[in-house]
Amino acid sequence: MSGGRRVAVVGAGPAGFFATAALLKADPDVRVDLIDALPTPYGLVRYGVAPDHQKIKSVTRAYARTASSDRVRYLGNVWIGDDPSVAELLERYHQVVLCVGTPAARDLGIPGEGLEGSHAATHFVAWYNGHPAHQDHFFDLSARRAVVVGMGNVAVDVARVLLKGADGLAETDLARSALDVLAHSAVREVVMVGRRGLPQAAFTPAELQELLTLDDVEVVVDPADLALGPEAQAWLDTYGTKACRRNLQLLQEQAHAQRPGASRRLVLAPHRSPLRVVGDARVEGLEVAVNGLAFGGERPRPVDTGRREVLEAGLLFRAVGYRGTPLPGVPFDEARGVIPSENGRVVGPDGVVPRLYVAGWVKRGPQGVIGTNRADANETVDAMEADRATLPTDERLGLDRAASVDWAGWERIDAHEVEEGANRGRIREKVLQVDAMLDLLS
Ligand code: NAP
Repeated sequence: MSGGRRVAVVGAGPAGFFATAALLKADPDVRVDLIDALPTPYGLVRYGVAPDHQKIKSVTRAYARTASSDRVRYLGNVWIGDDPSVAELLERYHQVVLCVGTPAARDLGIPGEGLEGSHAATHFVAWYNGHPAHQDHFFDLSARRAVVVGMGNVAVDVARVLLKGADGLAETDLARSALDVLAHSAVREVVMVGRRGLPQAAFTPAELQELLTLDDVEVVVDPADLALGPEAQAWLDTYGTKACRRNLQLLQEQAHAQRPGASRRLVLAPHRSPLRVVGDARVEGLEVAVNGLAFGGERPRPVDTGRREVLEAGLLFRAVGYRGTPLPGVPFDEARGVIPSENGRVVGPDGVVPRLYVAGWVKRGPQGVIGTNRADANETVDAMEADRATLPTDERLGLDRAASVDWAGWERIDAHEVEEGANRGRIREKVLQVDAMLDLLS
């Protein structure tokens, strides 16, 4: 192969950076073009990880080292879709790996979901983190009570941001627009709704502990939700993970903690399935079915007891997971919201699609922490290495995009944001519009 192997990595989030690093390590001659739709790299680390979790964001230092390799070219502000398409990338590169994440929100599929005041948590998260494509959302935080559906870490992030408010987040890199809206928030109570029991909640202990110990927040946990019957205890003994036991311990401690005079409240409401968003023009509440649990196997199922409740609230956030969005010409599993694959090789109706690979959430679904993407990307890169003998041997020229933002361009945006932040006593002041980013480079 003259000129060495050329690989396009589409998506400069965690999976894209881990895949790039693994490729550089595996092959001293490989050249990687790391392509992102936005001028800014880092994907979910920049636009998903909460602004008060800066330690998690420090992984970007390792990503920047990867990008600084003279075998890596960053092409920001290049949207892969119709033009250029994945098919075109396959002509211009020996191999293409899609690390495009799962940017869309899962729906609840219940009546009233589209009412004013009902939001996908993923939109709220992208908005407060300053994602340029999510700055047009309008979040009216004039209600006193918000319901968050879901008991995963995204639900925890949303609840924490609402409960901390502007004062608790002013020094972070939370988007300025969101800080201004949070400064006028009337939200004083967040009800977190889960369809199964607290032992089955998806949040992790560190995130739960942080939520349970927020300043000036009273936490309400019904002790009945922590009393395990014989079946629940047997399930815990057989299937309970370390995280699940620790969660229970934290919740048990919390059920007895007193916070007299706290100005905000967090209510944990497990065993409730959303049935209908109540309201005419805008959200007035959430009707839920009260559930029991059917045990048997690793995953107890919620079972409707027939009892109904309406949780009054003027705001609703649906934090029930992410899903991928299809790319033109690329196989897509509609039911799972991912690109179907085997060991990282994309698989379509006719079998493996030659030279096309996938890594990260769009491969395995939206699960795991940032670091989980390393092993995932390694598996994909192992498949790419194993396929080397089958690749075309002609030279591939890569994409040629004059309007793209290179790594030096990103570094200028980065320096600008950090400087603007320092001027205001903040970690960084994110630039919220793509045009404004490009203006900085002109
Ligand atoms: P998740 O962990 O899968 O949690 C989704 C939650 O939604 C679960 O409680 C699930 O309940 C519930 N749910 C799903 N469908 C539902 C329905 N139809 N009705 C009611 N509830 C429903 O997803 P996530 O919170 O979006 O997080 C995605 C990944 O990112 C996770 O791996 C998470 O740990 C990670 N993350 C990590 C951090 C961090 O480390 N700080 C922060 C944010 C996200 P069931 O269990 O009953 O399905």
